Amino acid sequence: MSDFLKHCEHWIFDLDGTLTQPVHDFDLIRRELDITPGEDILQHLANLSEPIRSEKVERLDQLEHFYALQAKSANGVYSLLEELSHKQCNMGIVTRNTKAFTQLSLSVLNLSEYFPSECIIGRDDAVPKPDPQGIGKLLSLWAAPASNAVMIGDFKYDLLAGKAAGCKTVHVSTDRDMQWPELSDYRYNSLAELAKLI
Ligand SMILES: [Mg+2]
Repeated sequence: MSDFLKHCEHWIFDLDGTLTQPVHDFDLIRRELDITPGEDILQHLANLSEPIRSEKVERLDQLEHFYALQAKSANGVYSLLEELSHKQCNMGIVTRNTKAFTQLSLSVLNLSEYFPSECIIGRDDAVPKPDPQGIGKLLSLWAAPASNAVMIGDFKYDLLAGKAAGCKTVHVSTDRDMQWPELSDYRYNSLAELAKLI
């Protein structure tokens, strides 16, 4: 275990599948929105013309509302956030979900207290991951150097965004097939495993 995470003061999380258990069925969402399997959903919507784009965004919002209400906490999330809060670390979220649904999920899980509104960057607040802009916004807000920050997520986009922002990256996943060693500085099976180490 590196001393880096023990002393790291700025923690940026992905939401879905990282702070929460993965419940989004992206294949179903693509089918509902008539998007080719594997295609980037937000990119697809951004390239549509009106009024189709607005109709599909509204349908996506309905689906995400449904998933937000079903949010279940990831293993170890309470112990990790409590420990980071105790250490007075900055904590934020950069998500491809909307800020409103993020706040709904956090409230369902009783996690709202850890994330002030300005520390939640949704897909309408910055160019979505894998672009590093959302992470950059949080680092500016905190006046924090990227070298003292870490991005934690369950998907490649989280790790790409973290690397592009100059942060360390943590990949948290129980799925051993989904590994990006070249993008991950650390890898853990759960937040519980990470919480025990800091
Ligand atoms: Mg995720």
